[in-house]
Amino acid sequence: MKYNSTRNKNTVVTAAQAISQGISEEGGLFVPQELPKYSADELLALSKLDYKGRAKKILADFLSDFTAEEISESVDAAYAAEKFGGDNPAPISYLHNGDENMYILELWHGPTSAFKDMALQILPHLLTKSMHKVHDGKEAVILVATSGDTGKAALEGFKDVDGTKIMVFYPVDGVSPMQKRQMTTQKGNNVNVFAIKGNFDDAQTGVKKIFTNDAIKAQLADNNKLFSSANSINWGRLLPQIVYYFSAYCDLINAGKIANGEKINITVPTGNFGNILAAFYAMNMGLPVNKFICASNANNVLTDFLATGTYDRNRNFYATMSPSMDILISSNLERLLYHLTGNDDAKVAEYMKSLSETGKYTVDDSVKAKLDELFFGGSCDDKGTQATIKKTYDEEHYLCDTHTAVAVNVYEQYVEKTGDKATPAIIASTASPYKFAKNVLGSIAPEAVSDDEFATVKELSKLTGTEVPKPLAELENAEVRFTTTCAADEMKDVVLKALDI
Ligand SMILES: *Cc1c(COP(=O)(O)O)cnc(C)c1O
Repeated sequence: MKYNSTRNKNTVVTAAQAISQGISEEGGLFVPQELPKYSADELLALSKLDYKGRAKKILADFLSDFTAEEISESVDAAYAAEKFGGDNPAPISYLHNGDENMYILELWHGPTSAFKDMALQILPHLLTKSMHKVHDGKEAVILVATSGDTGKAALEGFKDVDGTKIMVFYPVDGVSPMQKRQMTTQKGNNVNVFAIKGNFDDAQTGVKKIFTNDAIKAQLADNNKLFSSANSINWGRLLPQIVYYFSAYCDLINAGKIANGEKINITVPTGNFGNILAAFYAMNMGLPVNKFICASNANNVLTDFLATGTYDRNRNFYATMSPSMDILISSNLERLLYHLTGNDDAKVAEYMKSLSETGKYTVDDSVKAKLDELFFGGSCDDKGTQATIKKTYDEEHYLCDTHTAVAVNVYEQYVEKTGDKATPAIIASTASPYKFAKNVLGSIAPEAVSDDEFATVKELSKLTGTEVPKPLAELENAEVRFTTTCAADEMKDVVLKALDI
């Protein structure tokens, strides 16, 4: 299978090239030229396998330039039971008191307690294998802009991986105390962490600028190094995410909750549009989907886009209690536009040019019609988030994190508006409540919150009888290693200095 760039169809690369390069020369994103298609019988066959088996089958269909051993090795190492607390890294939690048709797909049982682990535990394996195929002997320099969760998950995935260096930039005031602590205490000899004076979009724009700066690229090449990306613009991030949608569907068949072939709704708390896009790919590969429900927080640029067909980032940026969704430029939307325009690279390039020059673009009527058919968009502010955490806890005894609560809230909006309660619905649960303990506890027992993060964590555990993920509990006594803050326009210098070139 080959991959094209969303901004130039004449760019044709292998999977290994797409993964090692991260982004195409002219700034486009790599997309598969065609998709494997699974029949109902093949879905049934998939349901007989365990998670790793499902992952191996799906990855093999996309990574045709990898051997079966390479894929097997990568999957087995990434989803080892001890890393994800069991054989199924993405289990479904069944709620019983309220809506029996709502299934919470828990994607946060990995080492950093957020769904980013699902992709970032396997990406280093795919990336180092890709580097060997395409750029033998070169060191990969991974630059990461993070709104909180990607940074830690990437650091954990890449720490001490031979042939790689990783540098993470996070918005200085844009992450939760636990997220910050997770990053500043990161262990490993090839890691670097910097705070940026600015928001996530500033960090992401800064990273993209460095990636496409020819002078810096040449300087790296002279030193036998090459930039790569662990952000969800990298195909190696998206691909592993397709697996858990199929896997969840298979688990629902096996549990007798749905019939094979029955359509489901998928609700995703959305930021950079990677997670929900993986679900869109799954549908195009044969997963029976009725609607994608795209949930946003107060940064509701996607909600407005889905309603009007105009994407407009010229608006206030809000720092919310679901910081991993505090994003005004959802990069992966570019891939959706490519597919919905019928692979019209010129059109996508035009939209993206308009976005970078004016901060907005409007899609054609035909694209808008397809969006209407496939997507429902909704948003939920911090007040709604807290109310949903409380309601879900009171009614279902289920404790959601702030991001998952946004999804549950918007799913309820969907049911309210459409009356569609009958379609089984998967809600992607993207983080452990303990990553956002202050706001989660503040929603159910505000009087119990204290200024001390770890006291709050313990209080939440005591009150709800749920367990604190071990890696988070251990942070209380971890040594802080990274304290540098820099301006967004200093990122380039900081990178070169850290690389010592
Ligand atoms: C990254 C993240 C999101 C947003 O996912 P995208 O793929 O960027 O849309 C939502 N919730 C949590 C907890 C995250 O870490």
